[in-house]
Amino acid sequence: MKRFFNYMQGGKSVSFLYLLVLAYTVAALVWWGILLLRQSHQITTFELQNLKLRTDSLTQPVEYQIEFQRIQKDERMRSFKYLGEGLTFLGIILMGAGFVFRAVLKYMKLSRQQQNFMMAVTHELKSPIAAAKLNLETIRKHKLDEEKQTRLIDNTIRETNRLDQLCNNILLAAQLETHKYQLFKEPLNISAIFEAGIKELGGRIGTHDIQASILPGVWMEGDKLMLHIVLSNLVENAAKYAPRNSTIYVKLFEENKQLRLQVIDEGPGIPDEEKERIFLKFYRVGNENTRKAKGSGLGLFLTAKIVEQHNGTIEVLDNKPSGACFDITWTNYSIQTA
Ligand code: ADP
Repeated sequence: MKRFFNYMQGGKSVSFLYLLVLAYTVAALVWWGILLLRQSHQITTFELQNLKLRTDSLTQPVEYQIEFQRIQKDERMRSFKYLGEGLTFLGIILMGAGFVFRAVLKYMKLSRQQQNFMMAVTHELKSPIAAAKLNLETIRKHKLDEEKQTRLIDNTIRETNRLDQLCNNILLAAQLETHKYQLFKEPLNISAIFEAGIKELGGRIGTHDIQASILPGVWMEGDKLMLHIVLSNLVENAAKYAPRNSTIYVKLFEENKQLRLQVIDEGPGIPDEEKERIFLKFYRVGNENTRKAKGSGLGLFLTAKIVEQHNGTIEVLDNKPSGACFDITWTNYSIQTA
């Protein structure tokens, strides 16, 4: 129910109408039952009065008794019938309401995704195209010195790379969602993979200090490329949303027979009401006008899908005093000490 109202935030009138119709239908059914039971009781009273009037004509008191019991049995039978019918109807109505509830949830989720897609992707598609176009037009129109020209060309390459990455992410998201992406799973030393990934990310992200603490010798069946995407999405997000020069912690450790990968930052963190939604496709916190960082809302969706396909779970916790802690848990691993 909580999920329902979360989704329904944009459609409060729809949810109110839905609950109103449901309440009305159940109330009408209960009222119908009460009326029938009352009517049945009236019939019994009438029959009993009638019986009393006929008592004189009945020769034996036994006959009166038999007739009296028949009338009472009839009332009980009628009550059972009404109760049975009422409960069946109530069951059917609640089942129907359940189906409608799920359909509406699905619809709301879809329309929210569509909205998010329009907001995030349109912006993300248009801005690199506009930047690349402007750069190329500037180079064509003006006689620029070599340094300026190189800067514009580098910028254009960066923008087209962003576009390329967005297209790849959209394709990968569609493939993962429809199970069309064939994971290439093999036994992996994921400690080594994460160590190498952190080294590569550290070289690429110059704005933050990345501190790693990786449990050595952890092996797991997995897709190397996909696990690298998980790590880089989380670390890149931390670098994107946490202030410059803050520290990003990456930890791989074992706790209660579970393997945990945590990426922790010192940024603004994720508000409680957004903690589930950030994993939805194309979902971004805030709106296009208030957002400072660029993005498509696909990174965490892909991350969650990949984690799921590696039999793990992901959630976001709060870092103290501030920041987000993305916490992935796996149980299908082994530790091999050399
Ligand atoms: P993108 O970063 O492209 O917007 P993501 O799917 O990676 O998309 O993230 C979804 C949203 O979750 C982001 O728009 C951002 O608001 C929020 N988010 C993700 N990571 C962090 C983080 N480390 N700190 C704060 N907010 C975050």
